[in-house]
Amino acid sequence: MTTDREKFGNKFSLSMPVRYLKGVGPARAKVFAQLGVETVGDLLEYFPRDWVFVPAAVKINQMRPEKNVTIVGLVESTDYRSNRRPVIFEVMVADDTGVCRIVWFHGGYLRDQLKPGQVIMASGKASLYKHHLQLTNPRFMVVDEESCNPEEYFGGGVYPACAKLGSRQIKRIIRPVLDNLGELVSEFYDESFLNKAGLIRRKDAFGWIHLPPDEEGLSKAKRRLKYDELFLMQLGLALRRYRVKHDSKAVHIGCSDKIDSRIRRRFPFLLTEDQNKVIAEIVADMGRAEPMNRLLQGDVGSGKTVVALYAALLAVAKKRQVAIMAPTEILASQHFISIERYLKNSQVKRVLLTGGLTGRKRKELMGQIKAGEFDIVVGTVALLQADVEFARLGLVIIDEQHKFGVEQRAELRKQTTPHYLVMTATPIPRTLAMTAFGDLDVSVIKHSPPGRGAVITRWVGPHNRQKAYEFIRQRLKAKKQAYFVYPRITNTDDSGNVKAAADEEKRLGERVFPEFRVELLHGQMPSAKKQGIMAEFRRGRIDALVSTVVVEVGLDVPNATIMVIEGADRFGLAQLHQLRGRIGRGEARSYCLLFADTESETAKSRLEIMTRSNDGFEISEYDLRLRGPGELFSTRQHGLPDLKIANIVDDYELLVMARKNAFELVRQDPMLTKPEHKNIREALLAKFGDSLGLADVA
Ligand code: ADP
Ligand code: MG
Repeated sequence: MTTDREKFGNKFSLSMPVRYLKGVGPARAKVFAQLGVETVGDLLEYFPRDWVFVPAAVKINQMRPEKNVTIVGLVESTDYRSNRRPVIFEVMVADDTGVCRIVWFHGGYLRDQLKPGQVIMASGKASLYKHHLQLTNPRFMVVDEESCNPEEYFGGGVYPACAKLGSRQIKRIIRPVLDNLGELVSEFYDESFLNKAGLIRRKDAFGWIHLPPDEEGLSKAKRRLKYDELFLMQLGLALRRYRVKHDSKAVHIGCSDKIDSRIRRRFPFLLTEDQNKVIAEIVADMGRAEPMNRLLQGDVGSGKTVVALYAALLAVAKKRQVAIMAPTEILASQHFISIERYLKNSQVKRVLLTGGLTGRKRKELMGQIKAGEFDIVVGTVALLQADVEFARLGLVIIDEQHKFGVEQRAELRKQTTPHYLVMTATPIPRTLAMTAFGDLDVSVIKHSPPGRGAVITRWVGPHNRQKAYEFIRQRLKAKKQAYFVYPRITNTDDSGNVKAAADEEKRLGERVFPEFRVELLHGQMPSAKKQGIMAEFRRGRIDALVSTVVVEVGLDVPNATIMVIEGADRFGLAQLHQLRGRIGRGEARSYCLLFADTESETAKSRLEIMTRSNDGFEISEYDLRLRGPGELFSTRQHGLPDLKIANIVDDYELLVMARKNAFELVRQDPMLTKPEHKNIREALLAKFGDSLGLADVA
């Protein structure tokens, strides 16, 4: 063990185990390990959760009524008043200028701690009581001498501690590390950048975060450390993106006016400005020899499918195959249906790959795809990732992949190097677009195609249920269609009054709307039956469709203008918004009725936001705020290092700056090999390890 310690000598290093620090033995090292602290570097990043600022001590005759006053004096007398309510412990303290009363309410426990003759330092609120200044409930400390430094006793960081390791002990242990920051912490940037960006030195930031000189110093320290954390994260993303672009080649798929107009002729409408803008971005990407890696965001019904089909037809025009992947079979078949609609009488060969397809038939189809006989293959992600081989795959379109992380995407990419277009209808808050999806280029469709009726959303409480049913009856009589969405299919457990789709389909069909055709649709039905019911609904032969969230994706029925969501308080905001996207697709006005009976404040806020806003991006920002980024966004899950101090929502401004600078740096020095970037590269390697394949960069 001694030899180990000698290895580290008297010099500190970031990789030195904390065990070799003064005051840390094997037992304490174990406790540190539980706190996630193994090395000196970890300890430096074990940031306080709070900070205490203590003003310098003043003489008693200099005291003023202030929030925070520190005095040092001799305890002359103590008094415990147990007959008072609350009980009071009182001390008279004197220095060479005067005497001051200190009072602790509920202070009985102090009887054994404070005795006449002790010198104490006390810090707290000074206020007038019967014409004299007194300190009330101050923190205090028995000290050796009157000339002591309050900062050292009370000031500085308060660490997240545990029973076996208190904040004060951590403070003592980290002290010598802080005294050696000069050799431990290397700077990333030159002075001129620091000045321009308004950042303090890295070394000072680490010193001040643990031992801030004052509030201002603390906030400067936080700012610098947050910036660095976000910068390293963005740098990781920038490098990942660079490598994807430069390590792999894709086929260049160029567009021409002729191809463009041939594709546009397929659409029975003019594309919107947003669609045209996004298509231009995609065409530019596909025209390069490096793979496109683009995220297409747009609310439900904003016209993404059309854009995706444009890209697909462009690839097909250049004799490339296209794979369109969706997360579920229902959604895959929906895509197939809408593609079919646009491709009537076209020679483009397209096929839907379903899970039901097995045995010889499947084998035959695989063979055809491999031989290049199909231009467009639609299927689920699982199906298409499994064992399908393409002859000349040029473009992969992935829909609704917001649950996919950066790493899974990298996984997909390994197999081939086609162009990638990822579509999501869940608007991603701008912060997440820059982090979880930070290695992608982002296109946004903001405005939906014209000719959409407004969607009016109402929150319906139990008392208005009958009225709502009557309203719906009127709409159904006018030949409109309705969705009824439930949180679950059946009530198997006895969890009380949650309404379930299967029971409700009976009730609605037999008792509430006997004059209309009401049908049930849910995910566990046999595929053929599901398809049949959806087709009937599409044709207008079913008036009301009762379902679980399967309608969340895929159905596009402009005549369906009513959506009832039962137990709406049980759905998240993103899901409510997504569901609502099923209506408002035609020109008539649509109605979304949220049935909910809840006392939960967050559920109420969610419902309220829904009634107020139809803007998916706005809703997603609310969602992020209501839930906190922690729940919505775990960096680990996305293959990024955890954030210890920065917060992507609150530190948005720093995130933007860090992202810009990180991407600029990679543009200038993609391998980070310039000597002035050595420290950054080392920090990056320490943080990401091999996960970015950065080792070969070093
Ligand atoms: P998304 O995939 O974003 O949900 P879609 O591409 O499926 O949206 O489009 C939703 C509906 O709007 C479809 O019925 C489609 O035919 C129609 N649509 C798309 N683009 C336009 C447009 N430019 N003008 C009119 N209607 C459009
Ligand atoms: Mg769509």
